Amino acid sequence: MTERLEGEAGVTRAVELLRAGALVAIPTETVYGLAADARNGTAVAGIFEAKGRPRFNPLICHLPSLQAAAAIGAIEGEALRLARAFWPGPLTLVVPLRPEAGLSPLVTAGLQTVALRVPALPLAQALLAAFDGPLAAPSANPSGRISPSTAAHVAEALSGRIAAVLDGGPAEVGVESTIVDCSGPTPRLLRPGGLPVEALEDALGAPLNHDAPTNDTAPSAPGQLSSHYAPAKPVLLNVTTPPEGALFLAFGPGHPEAAANLSAAGDLREAAANLFSMLHALDAQPGTAIAVAPIPQHGLGLAINDRLTRAAAPR
Ligand code: AMP
Ligand code: MG
Repeated sequence: MTERLEGEAGVTRAVELLRAGALVAIPTETVYGLAADARNGTAVAGIFEAKGRPRFNPLICHLPSLQAAAAIGAIEGEALRLARAFWPGPLTLVVPLRPEAGLSPLVTAGLQTVALRVPALPLAQALLAAFDGPLAAPSANPSGRISPSTAAHVAEALSGRIAAVLDGGPAEVGVESTIVDCSGPTPRLLRPGGLPVEALEDALGAPLNHDAPTNDTAPSAPGQLSSHYAPAKPVLLNVTTPPEGALFLAFGPGHPEAAANLSAAGDLREAAANLFSMLHALDAQPGTAIAVAPIPQHGLGLAINDRLTRAAAPR
């Protein structure tokens, strides 16, 4: 059963659920978000599962203030200027990740950058202040469906798949946040959204770079990645007998020889939570390749296999 929460008591209950690793849909001024504790990998994996997202694209991390956001990412120069001008508000900034911030690598899809936002809606502010930590939240809709601007939209689509919906009334902006990538030499628009580009350009005193991502693996949708994490070592897929010298990344019970096991219990949520950290760890060990066991192609297995296929693609 998905709980319907409201007001101050609703915030208290939402915080309790989020601390326990549950998923709660939360109101913001842009659209409703599907939130989980960004430090809890299994909880974050649950977001992808509940949405039926076939890909691990990185998630926006929500914070109560610029100060709290600055503990997760390095907000300097033009990023700081934009944050001061537009936070709280419908602007997401991509900045270098502070590795000591303790985010699950699933939030950033293994990248060294992080997307941060401080929402303005008072109920979202109250929730974030009470939670006192980073909340990862994409839009609270099943993958491929339109973003929800009311609690009723969320309930229609995700009821029974998430712990609760916090009702904050209809979303005022109704479209997603504008995303600006400030991790490179000049700010770049990744996704147009609720904050007009003209407002950003006024604050920057310069035109904003609109160039589409250049990487050939870039998805065509706006705001998507221009690069993705891939290990330096070759990645071999669907391996049952690893070649000599390769590091075996197992899945399921009974692999004492493995260098690591995504989930000895064969649990896809646990495997998703471990995916990026284990690839990073094995990439840092001596070995000729990372040989990955077959991962079942259902549920979160789709997103895991999508990411592994990209990691294994020739480059
Ligand atoms: P959604 O989760 O639906 O609100 O979408 C979030 C958007 O932010 C996606 O299009 C992501 O590709 C983008 N995004 C999040 N983190 C990063 C990052 N570190 N670098 C580039 N884009 C990002
Ligand atoms: Mg979305």
